[in-house]
Amino acid sequence: MNFNNSEKLYKKGCENLVGAVNSPVRAFASVGGNPLFIDKAKGAYIKDVDGNKYIDLVLSYGPMILGHRNKKVEKAVTKAIKKGTSFGASTNAEIKLAKIVCDAFPGMDKVRFVNSGTEAVLSAIRLARAHTGKDKIVKFSGCYHGHMDAMLVAAGSGLATLSLPGSKGVPSQAVENTLISEYNNLESVKAHFEKHDDIAAVILEPVTGNMGVVQPSDEFIKGLRALTKEKNALLICDEVMTGFRSKFGGAQELVGVEADITCLGKVIGGGFPVGAYGACNEIMENVAPLGGMYQAGTLSGNPIAMAAGISTLTELKNQNPYDKFNTVAEKLENMLLSSAKKYGVDLVVNRFGSMINPFFTNKEVKNFADAQTSDTAKFAKFFWAMIENGVFLPPSQFEAWFLSSTITIKELKKLEIAIEKSMAVIAE
Ligand code: PLP
Repeated sequence: MNFNNSEKLYKKGCENLVGAVNSPVRAFASVGGNPLFIDKAKGAYIKDVDGNKYIDLVLSYGPMILGHRNKKVEKAVTKAIKKGTSFGASTNAEIKLAKIVCDAFPGMDKVRFVNSGTEAVLSAIRLARAHTGKDKIVKFSGCYHGHMDAMLVAAGSGLATLSLPGSKGVPSQAVENTLISEYNNLESVKAHFEKHDDIAAVILEPVTGNMGVVQPSDEFIKGLRALTKEKNALLICDEVMTGFRSKFGGAQELVGVEADITCLGKVIGGGFPVGAYGACNEIMENVAPLGGMYQAGTLSGNPIAMAAGISTLTELKNQNPYDKFNTVAEKLENMLLSSAKKYGVDLVVNRFGSMINPFFTNKEVKNFADAQTSDTAKFAKFFWAMIENGVFLPPSQFEAWFLSSTITIKELKKLEIAIEKSMAVIAE
């Protein structure tokens, strides 16, 4: 396989782009080597600028749940473009997408569209503070909530537990109201509530994708709900990644919890920049123009993005691929585990609906500390072997792999061969 054109573009890109990318994970820092530059994609496949074709398990980090270039979405977007691309005034499309989203989440009466998952979370946190009149937010190590200052507390490291910023440029004051707990450890949350009486909200990924896939235990998630209620704090479920991924609606329903505020993104924009936050009327009425919490956006509710969202969710409802996702993910899990066993590689596989990922460890993964026992050097080797065998994976041990509804038995067979060959490389 040659990557000559990607290598050339990388060098050229470094001149005027930071690291030749617009989002750091795309730089392949944690797996080494030259990042791939993409030319185009269709269905379950993506092609790089050297003409190498891969089964795509990145899917733009989640949004492309129908695969690339779904005909109905493409048609809806093209039609919308012809009517004008942005108006700075309301459209019927916003109302239609809001209805689809609210109907899919019990307890969500109103939603506000923004332009990214980060914006959804920062607005949800402002809303929680506005509604409760309190300041502190509990987050979990290993959960990523976008790049707003207050959520950029280094997950899982020693620094994280001290609430020190995990990025240069974030002032310590920006994270002094962020408290860190351990995922699946209710006691670590209780400890904060015992110490502080000004906690506005607890935010979590109801199933994580940003430390790899980790599900909450029943005791943990139900305990969080009860505790937040008891302490008059809100529960924010960040479903930017999980929303509409494993059922039509949220992961909340599958894990048995109902959030006070839900954050969305990725799938609801069908490949365009859309985020959203929603809640019951009483909470949402804090938001301007109904209430005193200001939040705005020039391109929020953009008509093209709304058309992509409406057509994606409508098609998703019609296709109802969720049972298929479980079956495919189970097959993938079995492939990974049986090849690992054959080659004597320590491997744990976690999955949830259309999200799955292997950890190169022999320890059950229930939180970020467990995830970090994974051998990242082995992952890097596996990643490049999978590339050589025609599979595009997220270039990080700690990112979930995604399935699209376009995956068929043909791709599964190719995946089986690629996994087998890549596991053999690791065992060498
Ligand atoms: N929240 C979660 C759970 C995410 O996975 C992400 C991005 O991956 C975000 C928030 C931030 O979304 P965005 O990258 O659209 O700003």
